[in-house]
Amino acid sequence: MDKTMFASDNYSGICPEALQAIVEANAGYSRSYGEDAWTEKACNRLREFFECDCDVFFVFNGTAANSLALASLCRSYHSIVCHEVAHVETDECGAAEFFSNGSKILLVSGAAGKVDPAAIVHTVSRRSDIHYPRPKVLSISQATELGTLYSVTELEHLGETARRHQLALHVDGARFANALAGLKESPATLTWRAGVDVLTFGGTKNGMPISEAVIFFNHQLAEEFAFRCKQAGQLASKMRYLAAPWVGMLEKGSLLANALHANSCAQLLAKQLLRIPGVTLVHPVQANAVFVQLPELLLERLRQAGWHFYTFIGSGHARFMCSWQTTEEEIRAFGDELATIAAELKLAGG
Ligand SMILES: *Cc1c(COP(=O)(O)O)cnc(C)c1O
Repeated sequence: MDKTMFASDNYSGICPEALQAIVEANAGYSRSYGEDAWTEKACNRLREFFECDCDVFFVFNGTAANSLALASLCRSYHSIVCHEVAHVETDECGAAEFFSNGSKILLVSGAAGKVDPAAIVHTVSRRSDIHYPRPKVLSISQATELGTLYSVTELEHLGETARRHQLALHVDGARFANALAGLKESPATLTWRAGVDVLTFGGTKNGMPISEAVIFFNHQLAEEFAFRCKQAGQLASKMRYLAAPWVGMLEKGSLLANALHANSCAQLLAKQLLRIPGVTLVHPVQANAVFVQLPELLLERLRQAGWHFYTFIGSGHARFMCSWQTTEEEIRAFGDELATIAAELKLAGG
């Protein structure tokens, strides 16, 4: 058994439906740079999925998707408001600042990785003079970096707050499929109906090899975005291979099925972890991540036994991720080993 499997959902491979679509797309010749039939089909499937005439672009990864989307919403003297643990802030090497030619990121806090609306209002209204970078975008992550979800009510409230303060609303949806699966709401309800202007929709962590879709719900904002992608080296010449997995997964329903599976695996994994005395849940498990506080000795012994997981992400606790590929057997095997180690350490009886 591979003991690295819970470290990240991007440790998983390509799901069968995505792979099958790539094999089909590989037949013969095809036009390049997104002018092919697969790309057209993928865009149309996404328009059906979101029940709207959105503009769709495919890029290679999430950092590009987020930072190019944000750059398209900002001028260099503007600012972007996001949570202090947002991927955009902590894991993209300043890409949003770079591609926007200097837009400043303004951080706000909030429980469980979710921005606090009052903190947003405070941050965007405390200054309006020319010495301060003008707040122009609110960027939130759904699911969040801590595996939590904004409810529809919370999302709508943020949409209203953004509108009231003339902020565009961007959603980092690297795990948007997990949010859809967790909330059991329609894609439209969780995006444009709540006031979302741009969504970066992750494919990679949900079973694709390489592909994130940038989805604009406002045609005006998408103007010239293609040039931005090209200049940033994000326009794939063989675009069909980035697009085909979306067609395969949307047509076969695996986009949602994969996320539902990953989310339910996370529930089971949390149960296994919480059986151990001294283990506590740090954030509610609402998507495919489990954040726990583990006794120091247990952390050490798990690592010695070869288990690999991160303890520096988000709130700095041990993070275990599930993916479309995780199996119940693997989770149970991990749980059994965990229980054996805990018994050896005499953690029992708590
Ligand atoms: C994984 C992830 C991304 C995308 O990261 P890349 O490594 O650039 O593909 C973006 N946002 C969040 C919240 C993520 O977890």
